[in-house]
Amino acid sequence: MKPIKKTKTVRIIYFVPKDKKPEKKYKKAIKFGIKDLQKWYNYHTYGYTFRLNEPIVEIIKGDHESKWYNETGNKENKTLNTWNNAVSETSRKFGSKHYDDNYAWVIYIDAEGGTGAGTASIACLPEHDLLGISGLHPKETSIWRWIGGLGHELGHAFFLPHSGEKDPESIMMYGYAKYPNCHLTFSDIERLRNSEFFFQTENQNDFIYPSYLFDSYVYSDGFFVLLDDKLNWEERKYTSNVVFKFEEVSRNENYIIIKDPSRNLMIQIPKKNGVSLIGSNNNWQNWVSLKEGFSYKNWEDQKKLIDQKIPHDSLIWKSVLDSNQQNVLNLFESFLYQNGYFIHLNSSFWQERNFEINPTVFRFQEILRDQKYILLFDHTRNFSIRMPISGGDSFISTDGSNWSFLYHVEKIGKINENENLNQNQNQNENENQNQNQNQNQNQNQNQNQNEICRIF
Ligand SMILES: [Zn+2]
Repeated sequence: MKPIKKTKTVRIIYFVPKDKKPEKKYKKAIKFGIKDLQKWYNYHTYGYTFRLNEPIVEIIKGDHESKWYNETGNKENKTLNTWNNAVSETSRKFGSKHYDDNYAWVIYIDAEGGTGAGTASIACLPEHDLLGISGLHPKETSIWRWIGGLGHELGHAFFLPHSGEKDPESIMMYGYAKYPNCHLTFSDIERLRNSEFFFQTENQNDFIYPSYLFDSYVYSDGFFVLLDDKLNWEERKYTSNVVFKFEEVSRNENYIIIKDPSRNLMIQIPKKNGVSLIGSNNNWQNWVSLKEGFSYKNWEDQKKLIDQKIPHDSLIWKSVLDSNQQNVLNLFESFLYQNGYFIHLNSSFWQERNFEINPTVFRFQEILRDQKYILLFDHTRNFSIRMPISGGDSFISTDGSNWSFLYHVEKIGKINENENLNQNQNQNENENQNQNQNQNQNQNQNQNQNEICRIF
């Protein structure tokens, strides 16, 4: 059996027409967006994501002025002119092509032109997406809708089709506009997990959202989180082990203000998504923009959730699962409780996910299992969970000897991991055999995809 190669990368081109200058803010915004999508895809495929090419954003200087790209081609319907012209010039200069053996291409061109569109291996987005992802769009000022738009077109470049009206909340339908609160369909999850663009991330912190037990604010390479005592905050980075300590000073309608006395600085964290601000003791009136990020609010929503009573009836628990989640849980060994589930992703790696707060992920390592229990350990929060192997009462301990009741859990999904593996292997084999057939199919789909992608 030939193993599937998973070495393709996403290659991003920032296309600058002759009359335009390269803008640092655009480059920065594209990087932020694509890295956020790496984490989003990782969350929604249960531990797989795409790789980025190096450097992450490359610049092409165009042969023509920006107007030319939109006006050359079809005079009556200019929608796809910019797309066609940018794609063919990139192909000439960088060798990009459909069904590319090495890359999925994302081209951002600083020229007017219809909408973003994507198809087999190539996504191309015009000026309004550049403005949008940088927070400069005159009408749609939230960057998240534009990152969602990139995620949608990138999905097409990964050969994902539209999900259809039966699943309008999917990122591959209208869900992109609500990014990050949208999902992948189960068939898209399966397709991406087997895609040559996607690799297994296992325990790599870079791709995991932090745990959102408390108020937190996440930016491109780290996050702020309110600690248990509800007074102190920490800032942590994905790339290093440095932890900065803050005290909460006050809250107003829009911001939470925290202070690091040792470094003589204060930070305002937006309660809703947006830009955080930094100020220093010397001049508290003078706040400077710090980071663009997501705010995860335990503040208001969390209280509502706690008050919401969910009945202890497994049938009702199951009804909270949508068909996607049910399919995923059936694929893995998993345990369902009233607000979420534990899922055995691979080897010793488990996740706990909560239904209501998206995306809350806690990670556990399987330490051992006997005939009755599976012992899971959370390294970051330093406690163990004893999971009953065929369902029942689970227990939690911080010292390994005193155990208290945690949740009643129901066992669903696969019992044996090997079963899972074999099935995947068979699937892969079939896929190899069907490869030629698929390629033909994809080529047929290709032309349709340009057509149907004009939903925004
Ligand atoms: Zn589309």
